[in-house]
Amino acid sequence: MNYIFGPVPSRRLGLSLGVDLVPLKTCTFDCIYCELGRTNHKTKERREYHPAAAIVTELQSYLEQAETLPDYITLAGSGEPTLNIGIGQIINAIKQISQVPVAVLTNGSLLFLPEVREALVNADLVLPSLDSASPGIFRAINRPVAGFDLGQIIAGQEAFRQMFGGQIWLEIMLLRGMNDDPAELEKLRQVIARLRPDRVQLNTGVRPVVEDYAVPLTPEQMAAAAAFLEEGVEVIAEFDPATHAKLTLSDADFLETLARRPMTAQDLAKVLARPLAEVLKRLNQLKNRGLITYNLHHHQGFYFYPRSQLSQPASKN
Ligand code: SF4
Repeated sequence: MNYIFGPVPSRRLGLSLGVDLVPLKTCTFDCIYCELGRTNHKTKERREYHPAAAIVTELQSYLEQAETLPDYITLAGSGEPTLNIGIGQIINAIKQISQVPVAVLTNGSLLFLPEVREALVNADLVLPSLDSASPGIFRAINRPVAGFDLGQIIAGQEAFRQMFGGQIWLEIMLLRGMNDDPAELEKLRQVIARLRPDRVQLNTGVRPVVEDYAVPLTPEQMAAAAAFLEEGVEVIAEFDPATHAKLTLSDADFLETLARRPMTAQDLAKVLARPLAEVLKRLNQLKNRGLITYNLHHHQGFYFYPRSQLSQPASKN
């Protein structure tokens, strides 16, 4: 599969089938906390990064063969999905071929464009993010491509709320010493009141991050921030001791781990402390290159790498 990954269990979305609309890593931002690593293609140019027709064909063939349908088809993946100029066409085509609700994970930066708001209007759930209400903090955390204005981004999200009848779940990433002081939280509270999302979900940098100074809040600090912001604000961060895992894993990291014992993708994601979506992608690549095998065992899929092959050189990328 070129554009689809998963389905992966997601705390927010249940069983989520991911659809990648842009190549890794194409984004309007280069967030200091991004789980995907540095943005090597920082842009605000909207174009057909992956062809809409090819994405829909692949999705249709997946759905025709799937034994279990996902809870959501989620447009996201390797960067900012609204950069794909065909996103509206893709959403509309999915609605024609499937009853599964469509979710869009976006940084919300392009919602100031009327054509982007119009493109998302038939989605069922849009999950934008907004990490600060102050231009300086916005630039420090999200490191946008030149030409973005925070006021314009907030106004775009507000305009989208006014026209969109589906659910909006706003995610805010809090980082210690950057956007967690009472003055900034108060500004965020005022912006939330303007944006009127259906849910507000707080996260913090508990996964491997790009910059060491993107430090997570403690569970207690997160709970206090949630209580300060608004009644009903949820904390969605999954606190895990494996916070300081390596950001970039080589093929050898995967192969050496699998040589110890056959594992499911979920096992590997836990052991390597990486997002399941990323692990599934890498496992597919290794399988397609003939380096590992995949077998079903008691209805569970296991990935294998024979110990005897460990002496052979594996790519470091
Ligand atoms: S907006 Fe999302 S994909 Fe883009 S850099 Fe930030 S966290 Fe990564």
